[in-house]
Amino acid sequence: MRFDVLTIFPEIFRSYLRCGVLGKAIEKGIIKVSMVNIRDFSSGRHKNTDDRPYGGGEGMVMKPEPIYNALDSIDREQNSLVVLLSPQGEKFNQEMAWDLSKYDQLILICGRYEGVDERVRILCAEKEISIGDYVLTGGELAALVVIDAVSRLVPGVLGSEFSNLEESFSDGLLEYPQYTRPRVFKGLEVPEILLSGNHEEIKKWRRREAIKRTFERRPDLLEKAQLTKEELSFIEEMKKKE
Ligand code: SAM
Repeated sequence: MRFDVLTIFPEIFRSYLRCGVLGKAIEKGIIKVSMVNIRDFSSGRHKNTDDRPYGGGEGMVMKPEPIYNALDSIDREQNSLVVLLSPQGEKFNQEMAWDLSKYDQLILICGRYEGVDERVRILCAEKEISIGDYVLTGGELAALVVIDAVSRLVPGVLGSEFSNLEESFSDGLLEYPQYTRPRVFKGLEVPEILLSGNHEEIKKWRRREAIKRTFERRPDLLEKAQLTKEELSFIEEMKKKE
């Protein structure tokens, strides 16, 4: 899978993309991330990428031509999508990450300043994504969030020791609590069941803990989760105890 990022700060991406699972996936060629510096496509003498807003007001707005021309310079795969990172976009979540992982190429446009000229949104963006209800200084962190979450769903990126099948949100639930050595830490013991070697019972315990945790922290997720009759009555019991 290929990501092309349009940004005025390509250097932001380099160190993050060198590390960990993503770094390895890029080394192996499973994932390719290219940065396109929007500034290289500015025609002005000073290579300006921003200008004052029409109608007055605070701050600067990113000009449309450099972004449009930067986008035009990219080789488009047939199965590609142009995404504008924006606090006004559709909120990013795991389901969207799965949908995006089906593309061969994602082109991510990072805004700065007061955002991008509206004509970029109209002419270039095929989708607008927000990573949450807060305002960042630029789209670069948001682009990294999308690249990271989508890449780990691409086959071959996570090694066999990892799996996203049991992770939070994969089945509509938050993940169960995880433990590693030591067996006792600061007086807190690892639950006995996890030491039992009884895989069937461990699986049941984990499922129950995942439901409990989701009920306590994100009850909204339970509405969409696939639950058995038994699990639904477990939730009813928890509700009664509240
Ligand atoms: N004035 C804009 C508004 O109120 O909608 C906010 C501009 S913000 C300071 C600058 C850039 O950061 C945006 O163009 C966008 O690319 C990025 N950005 C900020 N918050 C974001 C968020 N929650 N999700 C995705 N991108 C965001």
